[in-house]
Amino acid sequence: MSSNKPMPIPTSISAPFWDGLKDGRILIQHCNDCDKWTFYPRRHCSHCLSSQVEFKEVSGEGTLYTYTIARIPTLPEFAGPEPQVMAVVELDQGVRVNTTLLGLKEEEIEIGMRVKPVRARVSSDGTVLLRFTGVHVDLDEVDEVPKQPQVAVADADAPVVRQIPLSDEAALQSLVSEEFSPWSNQLLVDQQMINQFAELSGDNYWIHTDPERARKEGPFGGTIAHGALVQVLSSKLQVNLGFEITGFTNMVNYGSERLRFPSPVPAGSLIHSRGRVKSVERSRRGTQLVLELNIHVVGQERPSVINDLIILYM
Ligand SMILES: [Zn+2]
Repeated sequence: MSSNKPMPIPTSISAPFWDGLKDGRILIQHCNDCDKWTFYPRRHCSHCLSSQVEFKEVSGEGTLYTYTIARIPTLPEFAGPEPQVMAVVELDQGVRVNTTLLGLKEEEIEIGMRVKPVRARVSSDGTVLLRFTGVHVDLDEVDEVPKQPQVAVADADAPVVRQIPLSDEAALQSLVSEEFSPWSNQLLVDQQMINQFAELSGDNYWIHTDPERARKEGPFGGTIAHGALVQVLSSKLQVNLGFEITGFTNMVNYGSERLRFPSPVPAGSLIHSRGRVKSVERSRRGTQLVLELNIHVVGQERPSVINDLIILYM
C-alpha cells in the first residue's frame, strides 16, 4: 500500500527517543532532581522544570488510558488501514503516549487493560513508530513501510497504443489535445533520495537536506525535494500517452520550451505524472512534437513540475 503519511522529524531534543526506537529500545526522559518521568521529549522536566533530564530505557508496558476508533481517515494523509484504534497509553512510569493499538479485536479493547509496545517500521530509512497491543498478543514488530507501487501501466490493462507514421500529417495533428493522459505509476520521494540528489548535484541547501532547520525556519514545515530532482524522476513515471510514432530514423530530446516548479514536493511524498501533446510542427530540422508533462504530488491539484518537452523526429 502506498502512502503520503507524514513522518516524524527528529529534533536535537527528540532524536534519542527516535534513535532508541530504531534500535528496539524505548527511551524516555527521567528527572534527576525530582525523580519523575517526562514525555514527550523536551528540554526541561515537566514537573519541576529542572534541566537535569536524562533518557532512560523503559519496558514500554503500561495500561490503556483511553481510546477511540476512527472508521474513516482523520485526515487524507492518514488514510488506511481503517478502522484505526487511536489510543492514549499510560506507561508504568506515569507518562501518557498518543498512539494506535494493533492486533486487537474491538471487543478485546478495554480501558485499563495491560498493553505492551509494538515497533512499527514506517519508512525505508528505518523510522519506527511506537504502537501498542495487548500483553497477551504475540506481536512485537510490524512492517508498515509503504511499498513502491509497481509499474503496471504498460501491460496490466493492455492499453491501445495507436501507431502513427511520421509521414501522416493528419494523424500527427490529431494527437494534439487539451486533455491529459491517465496518471502514471506512483513513486515515493523520501529524504534519502533527496540527500542522494543533493550529494550528486552539490545543491545541499538546508531546505532540502536539514529537516530540523527546515521545520523551524522553512516555509513548508519540513524539507522539500529539489525541483530538478522531481523533474528528472519523470523517467521513472511511465505515462501512457496512447500512441507510438513510427517511421523515423532519429528521435532526439531537444530540451524544454517551458519548465516551471509551481508547488513543492515535501520529503515523503508520493508523486505521479500525466501528459498531453501540446503541438506538432514541421520544420526544416524535422517534426517537432511538444509534450507537456506534469508531475503532481498524489492528491494535489496543482502540479509540482510543468515541463513542455520538445521531441524532434527526423
Ligand atoms: Zn523534575
